[in-house]
Amino acid sequence: MATPSFDDSMFLLAHCSVCAADTLTHLGLGPEDDLIRCCVHCDAPVVSPLIEVSSEELEDRGYSVIEARTCGNGGGCGSGCGTRAQH
Ligand SMILES: [Zn+2]
Repeated sequence: MATPSFDDSMFLLAHCSVCAADTLTHLGLGPEDDLIRCCVHCDAPVVSPLIEVSSEELEDRGYSVIEARTCGNGGGCGSGCGTRAQH
């Protein structure tokens, strides 16, 4: 099975009115259990058109792309890593 590379991945941003910025989005559930796009920072639903960006452009917008396999293995993952400890 092929492992997707971040270099080949595309990410969806949208303008978040709460954060007043173009932010990375995630899928969430709307009021009628429909899938909606939400801001990763404040979880507010975003309604603006989605902006598809490459990992390179994502870094230009202030995000860091860290491949999961480097996290927790002394791979230079510092604070700001999106990985959360599971308890
Ligand atoms: Zn937001």
